[in-house]
Amino acid sequence: MKSVLIVSTFLLFTSVASAQKKPIAEIEKLVTRQEVEGPLTFLAADEMRGRDTGSKEIDIAANYIASNFMQLGLVQLMGAEKYFQPVQLVKSSPVAGGSLRFGGDAFAFKEQFIVLEGKGEWTGECIYVGYGSAEEMPADIKGKMVVSIAGSKDSAGPQQIFGASAEKFSRVKAGGGAGLIEFFVTTPFPWPAVVNYFANNSRTIVKSDGPEVPHLWMKDADVAGMKTLKEQKKIDGSLTIEGGKQLLIPSKNVIGKIEGTDPVLKNEYLVISAHYDHVGIGAKKNQDSIYNGARDNAMGTVGMMTAAKFFSRFPPKRSVLFMALTGEEKGLLGSLWYADHPLVPLNQTIFDFDCDGAGYNDKSVATVIGLERTSAEADISKACEAFGLKAGRDPVPEQNLYERSDNFNFARKGIPAIDFAAGVKSFDEEIMKYYHQPADEVGTLDFEYLVKYYKAFVYANYLLANGPKAPFWNAGDKYEAAGKALYKK
Ligand SMILES: [Zn+2]
Repeated sequence: MKSVLIVSTFLLFTSVASAQKKPIAEIEKLVTRQEVEGPLTFLAADEMRGRDTGSKEIDIAANYIASNFMQLGLVQLMGAEKYFQPVQLVKSSPVAGGSLRFGGDAFAFKEQFIVLEGKGEWTGECIYVGYGSAEEMPADIKGKMVVSIAGSKDSAGPQQIFGASAEKFSRVKAGGGAGLIEFFVTTPFPWPAVVNYFANNSRTIVKSDGPEVPHLWMKDADVAGMKTLKEQKKIDGSLTIEGGKQLLIPSKNVIGKIEGTDPVLKNEYLVISAHYDHVGIGAKKNQDSIYNGARDNAMGTVGMMTAAKFFSRFPPKRSVLFMALTGEEKGLLGSLWYADHPLVPLNQTIFDFDCDGAGYNDKSVATVIGLERTSAEADISKACEAFGLKAGRDPVPEQNLYERSDNFNFARKGIPAIDFAAGVKSFDEEIMKYYHQPADEVGTLDFEYLVKYYKAFVYANYLLANGPKAPFWNAGDKYEAAGKALYKK
């Protein structure tokens, strides 16, 4: 017995040691076409029906990922027994009607305001907070209706307004505000289109821990109630919302851990994440209505699983969390949930490397969204070059891709976070042919490129998990202050 143990310990020790010396050679051996094509084919199969959040097929995908974690011997965390972290989502149906008043002025439902979520009746003090950025928001908003200009000062397009709006709303809820009302000074979309969208569509959102706090959008109005509010920063108001039902959608993130080998660094956690949901069944195109999501994001999920396989053989100095996230396509909901319900302390979480993308049209690069934002840039560039790729920066900053993947929910907590996407030079026809289309199938993937992309991803994570110093935000970055606050730097 004893000698066997000594031998196996010795073998384990030497294999770990050899990976420390020759990670590139080990990655070359481990990351092959057949290793990655199997799981990709499973996750993006027609039988998975596009892995829509709330569907039974996405649960099959979750089981598949969890059983893979089990085979690899990943550690289960408290709060994610059997690797499943329950995520409370609800389908919120459109509101039937309502009334809103600032001082003596009443506003008409649909003509002047719409309800994004929430219900009930409220009377009290409304406060005006400009754009409602973290700096502008007063410390005490408890019980008050927060009124702000929609989006943020620098949000131009609809995506940015949605992102800024969701982020602001989560701060209002965290601060105990009675609700958030945002008004549009200028709109990048016509008001009737906004009304039409919110009046006719259910939305999947995170279930509130407390009461259902209302979130409204309204048009600016040249009336006394609005003027008083803006000038004096407050006014009495009231709000009622009729109807609006919420249906629970049980969902889950799949999370497992590999413990670090260094007695000190093992208390630092690298997160390797990828969303495993997609958009399900949709409009038929070329006789096909299944949106397989091979690129988006079976590809990223397999990237994360491949890294798990590598680290299960060659555990790094730091601990690593592997995370398959749900509800990304509904608004980054799985990562939003995790960031607010973390399983290890956020101030011990040093980095999130997310693997997600829209597809590729440049096979000479891996497009790293947020590459220039953190001190991880050198390691990531080195990892790409080791396998014949270049690390490319975001080619379309105007699309605000950085805040459209799960890395954003880590960044807003201050954790350096970036997204490893496949190579994109522009959002041209080649990308749009597959992006959120039924044509996004495994049969259309270039595995020669994919294998290089995965090798670079695994190696970059190897460098981050073993490096002497945890990466941090570059000076002047939008999230630097949040990072300093989180890590008390
Ligand atoms: Zn995606």
